[in-house]
Amino acid sequence: MAKKATRKPARSAVKTARKTATASKTSAKKAARPAAKTASRSAGKYVYLFGRKTDGNGGMKPLLGGKGANLAEMCRIGLPVPPGFTVTTDVCTYYYANKRTYPAALRAQMQAGIAAIEQQTKKKFGDLKNPLLVSVRSGARDSMPGMMDTILNLGLNDDTVEALAAKTGNARFAWDCYRRFVQMYGDVVLGVQKRPDEDHEPFETVIERLKHERYHADIEDTKLTVADLQELVIRFKALVKDRAGKAFPASPWDQLMGAMGAVFGSWMNDRAIVYRRKYNIPSEWGTAVNVQAMVYGNTGDESGSGVAFTRNPANGNKEFYGEFLINAQGEDVVAGVRTPEPVAELRRQMPAAYKELDRIRQVLERHFKDVQDFEFTIEDGVVYMLQTRNGKRTAMAALKFSMDMFKERLIDWQTAVMRNPADQLEQLLAPVFDAEDVAASGAIATGLPAGPGAASGQIYLNAERAVTAAEKGEKVLLVRVETSPEDLRGMIAAEGILTARGGVSSHAALVARQMGKVCVCGAAAVEVDYGARTVTVEGRTFKEGDWMSIDGTAGTVYAGQLKTAPSEIIAGLIDGNKAAQATEKFKSFQQLMKWCSQASRMSVRTNADTPEQTANAIAFGAVGIGLCRTEHMFFEGDRIDAMREMILAETLEARKAALAKLLPYQREDFAGIFRVLKGYPATIRFLDPPLHEFLPHTKEQQADLAKKIRVPSERIHQRVEQLHEFNPMLGFRGCRLGIGYPEISAMQARAVFEAAAIVQKEGIKVKPEIMIPLVGFKRELDLQIEVVHQAAREVQAEQKVKLNYMVGTMIEVPRGALTADEVAQSAEFFSFGTNDLTQTALGMSRDDSGSFLPHYAELEIVKKNPFATIDQSGVGQLVELAVTRGRQTKKDLKLGICGEHGGDPASIQFFEKVGLDYVSCSPFRVPVARLAAAQASLSAKAGK
Ligand code: ADP
Ligand code: MG
Ligand code: MG
Repeated sequence: MAKKATRKPARSAVKTARKTATASKTSAKKAARPAAKTASRSAGKYVYLFGRKTDGNGGMKPLLGGKGANLAEMCRIGLPVPPGFTVTTDVCTYYYANKRTYPAALRAQMQAGIAAIEQQTKKKFGDLKNPLLVSVRSGARDSMPGMMDTILNLGLNDDTVEALAAKTGNARFAWDCYRRFVQMYGDVVLGVQKRPDEDHEPFETVIERLKHERYHADIEDTKLTVADLQELVIRFKALVKDRAGKAFPASPWDQLMGAMGAVFGSWMNDRAIVYRRKYNIPSEWGTAVNVQAMVYGNTGDESGSGVAFTRNPANGNKEFYGEFLINAQGEDVVAGVRTPEPVAELRRQMPAAYKELDRIRQVLERHFKDVQDFEFTIEDGVVYMLQTRNGKRTAMAALKFSMDMFKERLIDWQTAVMRNPADQLEQLLAPVFDAEDVAASGAIATGLPAGPGAASGQIYLNAERAVTAAEKGEKVLLVRVETSPEDLRGMIAAEGILTARGGVSSHAALVARQMGKVCVCGAAAVEVDYGARTVTVEGRTFKEGDWMSIDGTAGTVYAGQLKTAPSEIIAGLIDGNKAAQATEKFKSFQQLMKWCSQASRMSVRTNADTPEQTANAIAFGAVGIGLCRTEHMFFEGDRIDAMREMILAETLEARKAALAKLLPYQREDFAGIFRVLKGYPATIRFLDPPLHEFLPHTKEQQADLAKKIRVPSERIHQRVEQLHEFNPMLGFRGCRLGIGYPEISAMQARAVFEAAAIVQKEGIKVKPEIMIPLVGFKRELDLQIEVVHQAAREVQAEQKVKLNYMVGTMIEVPRGALTADEVAQSAEFFSFGTNDLTQTALGMSRDDSGSFLPHYAELEIVKKNPFATIDQSGVGQLVELAVTRGRQTKKDLKLGICGEHGGDPASIQFFEKVGLDYVSCSPFRVPVARLAAAQASLSAKAGK
């Protein structure tokens, strides 16, 4: 009962997931494109054959779509592909430019295409002896949700079905095909779909009713007799007549043109449009249509259909990975109607077919030089290839693929670098379970390791309750029999996902791969009772809210909450753990990072304020500090009191006295950082935030402080009032403070230089780069530079040392960028403070942009959050302009970026393009930035 209700939705569920999974743009994908082939295109040619004669190739994705181009490529390398042809994306463009009509020449070219298929298959379209059936498949450059579902068995009607039955001697097969065809065509072409007031798909309702009339039970589809299937076709046609208001088309050509129109029509349906907007796919691209001879996976037990990966896309292991269904057409595999079996089973059940598939698997990899995700059908023991594309993978798998394929000499090291998506790299740094805890607990169940990592959480069995719990701050583990798109919200909210059923192409596995979620799927020992809201494993029952833990790398399930430990990479790099350093994961990661250094033009620094943060970043490969925020140093311990005294001081003398108390602290901080840096440069920003941020704001706190530093409470209150700003972002801050109170800058400069002198005397090189914030006028910088030089002169004389330092500025207000040529006369370096530059250029405060930015993103006023990914066309112009003007004045002006954008791969690509010298980001983001910088360099070189 439940099965039928879920059958149809489940089918589209997996399809959607697989499509989404491949459509997301990763650099791994881009890099994997088959070697440069010119996309030769001849005018007036709308139909490209594939088969014995093949017109297209894998490099022609813009014209033939991803599916069509790769079908052609597979034909070219001699793989068994049923013959067919691709109607180009140009026809789609024409269709929309010409009121949904086709070019005049198209029909004849399609006829020639069908003739070519007929010749190769020795079947004839619409023939009454040996009818040719075809599939009609959509195919944009990347497969895309929202596009029309594939139609199988097109060409059947009341006459050809009899011919097919007679020819094959298998009436059940013929009528099964016909039943499927009328159902699919009725659904996707004629629009006979579930109405809002219906619970089930109308065709499924018809099937269910017939089963009950005739068998009084929900029997399996495979148990339906020829007579049943014949009756179903009659009822289906009646349903179509009733709902669509016209008869089901009997002519194969009418069917074909109808299906093609539906594919092109689906290019402009709402779902496709929304998707294209989200991923920035221009609507001009259009979709292609593939028409291909059918091969039949449903002729009996020597037939079947499957999907497979050439290697394991979850953990990267070099093993044949996938699943298949005996006696089924392709759509059944992902439909969840029957549970597919792992491809390894084929070795036992159909050894010859297995051998052939294993051979194909190797041919594919040797040719495409990347892991392939492919679809196949076996007809009476013979294997046919129906699709191949680069497989979506987890970060862990991507790393292993790239290392292994380099060792196998399939790819060079540059390609290996490109194959690791920078925005996924952080998955590798995620915690793992504590080994001792794992040994002590013992797994209670095992399943497929579908999403690597470790997750503990309180279990919830539906998305809604999972989301509610997560909103309350609970760590959630979503446990389900299987998942579908309705569960997506819950999957996002959850730390991890555990399913009882489902294989490697199940919805849960696909989504986990895509989102980088920890996931164990198909853990058969896990019994889920939605009604009782309990999970039972080997007699042990867990209620919602109870803790469970899953290891998505090993595929194991544990009771309770397991302790987590840092990933091998963190343990190896930060803690110097020897065992961790011996792991393959650690070694591969280090190799990748080594290649990154080799490839990058830009270097990567870090934003750090303490020796510890600095040490972490250096362990990750940072080569200096790009931003040391000194104000963070004023909050620790009693320093804040001295800071407050300084702010409350009424005379210069009093202020200097307070500053003198701060000086030793700052000196110590800087010395600590310099020691860790061992000669790497440190960009130190002088005091930046408005002063009132350092003062207490409540009456009680003010009274406390008054007692502590012996200042009247009223005076504190007054000063807070006095310093109050209507718009602190634009207020009395940045260099404006240092200009108002030069003694603050003088103290900071002295602290830097005294620390430098101390550390230098210890035999460690020191390279301070003093950075004056918020400069809009050259004169502002000049005034501050003089204060810095004065302090340097004094300290050098006192300490009898020669110090090596620079003074530069942060470019973070538009005027600073616009007058960069002037500013560069004084500045020895620029560092782009893109956080504030974005705020000031957009006139948008980051702190309250949350109230409207999400809506802006929905309306596509902004494509991405400009505080996360740099707004290239706006803020980016200011950066470019400042780079150009700055370097006009000083050819070798050192340029860096220290905003949040310094750790964002898309922004890093831009910074490479405009020619910055380095990016700087938070310590744990350093590996991501190194990878992104390397990829940006490699792409720039490849583009030249
Ligand atoms: P999707 O883009 O959703 O994967 P496809 O066009 O690849 O859609 O079709 C889905 C499935 O339909 C294929 O994996 C395959 O099993 C089946 N199929 C498509 N064309 C044929 C064909 N000519 N013969 C047999 N099965 C086919
Ligand atoms: Mg497919
Ligand atoms: Mg700033």
